Amino acid sequence: MTLPSFRYRLEQQVPRVGNGGVTRGASVREFPISTGIAGVSMRLAPGTMRELHWHANAAEWAYVVAGSCRTTILHPDGSAYVDTFDPGDVWYFPRGYGHSIQGLGPGECHFILIFDNGDFSEDHTFSITDFLAQTPREVVAQNLGLSVAELAPLPDREAYFVRGPVPDGSSLSATPRRVPELATMHRYPLDAQQPRRVPGGGTQRTVTVDEFPISTTMAGSVIELQPGALRELHWHPNADEWQYYISGTAEMGVFLAQGNAVIEQFEAGDVGYAPMGAGHYIKNTGAEVCRILIGFNNPHYQAMDLSEWLAGNPADVLATTFGLSPEVAAKLPHKTVFVAPPVSRK
Ligand code: MN
Ligand code: MN
Repeated sequence: MTLPSFRYRLEQQVPRVGNGGVTRGASVREFPISTGIAGVSMRLAPGTMRELHWHANAAEWAYVVAGSCRTTILHPDGSAYVDTFDPGDVWYFPRGYGHSIQGLGPGECHFILIFDNGDFSEDHTFSITDFLAQTPREVVAQNLGLSVAELAPLPDREAYFVRGPVPDGSSLSATPRRVPELATMHRYPLDAQQPRRVPGGGTQRTVTVDEFPISTTMAGSVIELQPGALRELHWHPNADEWQYYISGTAEMGVFLAQGNAVIEQFEAGDVGYAPMGAGHYIKNTGAEVCRILIGFNNPHYQAMDLSEWLAGNPADVLATTFGLSPEVAAKLPHKTVFVAPPVSRK
């Protein structure tokens, strides 16, 4: 029996590039285990825009790793929103809503897009330039109230990335004055959140539909593990888990039942996947903090952690299950560990 891989070396793939944009995608076509969630790593130079587009089969949840960008989005009721994003901010665009993203500079903007459908592909999305290029020019002219001659500069194919001036203050006039710590309809400042903290072990910041109401199909976390720390054995009853390793190195084990498990090593730029219900752990194997972005295809965060499970059982159940003496069984965890600190070597 050949076991699947739960790792995809996303940042080592050949990117799609153009006009200051760089994108690498992982769908079920490249990463077969990831049937429930797809992802994209995208970089935009200052002024470069991922043009107006929409996704027919997935909502888009994103986390800004570096730099700043501006997004626009239209709702079906006709309301439109413009937001600016900095590192640590999250956005959510419902499935099918038209949107754009533009790098604001001064440096490159790098963000991770997560889609609640493994069959999604950024390459097969619906772009406005493609839409208009595939429509008879007379129809476009009639639609927009312009002459065919005036529309001559329109691209004759999908542009995908376009490059323009970096928006200045006046073009941001539609944006409400930014309050960094406060959420807007489409922006949630995840890194500004007080994390769940385990002394000496790590942190977790999580955004669900409870904190970010527009995010009705997805949730996400950023976890940090100190060197040697272990995100304990657990599984998610309600969601697949898609991971992007931002920094550091880690080992993940995924338990598949029937005597099978897959243990793989991860480094910055890798993507990991833990299917719904599959037990897994993540251990920091390096000397620096390991930082991982995690997306879930469910708006509510649920986890079954090993220690919490054991703590919820009578000691005799555990002693019988594991063949432990009552004395040792009594020393099993009595509360949630969540992240186990490194084991000191003596
Ligand atoms: Mn998009
Ligand atoms: Mn997990």
